[in-house]
Amino acid sequence: MKKIAILGITGSIGISALEVVRQHRDDLEIVLATSHDNYQKLFEYAIEFNITELVITNPDRQKQITDRPEHSNLQFGDEQLQYKIESVDCDIVLNAISGSAGLRSSITTISTGKDLALANKESLVMAGKKIMQMLKISKSRILPVDSEHSAILQALGNSTPEEVRSIIITASGGPFRDLPLKEFNKITVEDTLDHPTWDMGAKISIDSATMLNKGLEVIEAHWLFNKSYQDIKAVIHPQSIIHSFIEFVDGSILAQLSFPTMQIPILYALTYPKHIISSLPKTNILDLPNLNFKPLSTKRYPLFQIALQAAEQGGILTTVVNAANEAAIDLFLTKKIMFTDIAKIVEKQVNKFDNISDPDIDEIIEINNKVYIQTKQNYKKLI
Ligand code: NDP
Ligand code: MG
Repeated sequence: MKKIAILGITGSIGISALEVVRQHRDDLEIVLATSHDNYQKLFEYAIEFNITELVITNPDRQKQITDRPEHSNLQFGDEQLQYKIESVDCDIVLNAISGSAGLRSSITTISTGKDLALANKESLVMAGKKIMQMLKISKSRILPVDSEHSAILQALGNSTPEEVRSIIITASGGPFRDLPLKEFNKITVEDTLDHPTWDMGAKISIDSATMLNKGLEVIEAHWLFNKSYQDIKAVIHPQSIIHSFIEFVDGSILAQLSFPTMQIPILYALTYPKHIISSLPKTNILDLPNLNFKPLSTKRYPLFQIALQAAEQGGILTTVVNAANEAAIDLFLTKKIMFTDIAKIVEKQVNKFDNISDPDIDEIIEINNKVYIQTKQNYKKLI
């Protein structure tokens, strides 16, 4: 029986993980779960799965709660979450918190030697270098939940980095892949949240529409699989059936395929290195649509390029991209800016920032918070 912690259990990945656990009750037990605001759902899951340790990371919720599951210990705030990650007896922590708020939990998980099933790609975008240094002296392993990185891990098998010529990450292209560029200024919040293949949280849905998500994923792949940015490419694949390719130095290419559901990569991260018998949705090869591929247009998706330019320079700049983007997304969701302003804001914030070449974790968190606040305060000057 594997004991797991699910951070962000009320989100899209959290709910997919619950479905995985429901189907593998004899293999998986949830011992710690968190939400930020949604305490009703957290309590409902705590009762269904008999979860003993609960944390609500938004401390303001404490005053609203009058009733709680009897058998569970309930704590509030991010400090308590870090303490629980350290102290609770568990084998693997699934970090499915959205955005930069997930970084500390990844760091704490690795520093306590527990395995990290990582959905929160922002952790590697902000602190990939530090996290890779920590992993060298920790027993922890990072098991990617992102479908592309799960595909890469599977296709790599036991090969060494020297055997790999390139990694090719697929991208659905999001809801606007065929929209004429002149109509981009009419895009609404509702259009953006309506992703053609995946049902995801608000931030990653918007990142998929701007394609910053693919930029973040290239950065994630760079750190996880030790390849240079020149050797990681992205292609549009609208059907989202092939989740990524590995091109080997002898010219052979391997791909991983499945029906687009996050339950498969979640299960694999939790059972790695084994593929276990499962009743998760099956992929019938004969039912597959035609599979198409086309280049990713940086004119349509300027944020992809902005993220990669920041990544090539390294240091704090990927944190600046992520923080400015998180602020711009909040501004877009509250209808203060247009969809096309998101890229303008991020580009301006990155271009004016003096890089810090090797920031430590505290510096990364501090700059993240500063850039986020400053972007929200000054956004009118940035568009
Ligand atoms: P959601 O927005 O659906 O869920 C986010 C979860 O994090 C919720 O449980 C939420 O709690 C909690 N949360 C929100 N803010 C905070 C905070 N400040 N501190 C702690 N917890 C917080 O996101 P997704 O599930 O879509 O994505 C989660 C992560 O997984 C992201 O990093 C995303 O990039 C990654 N990912 C997601 C995929 C997907 O298909 N959804 C695919 C690949 C990667 P509450 O509900 O109470 O607000
Ligand atoms: Mg992905």
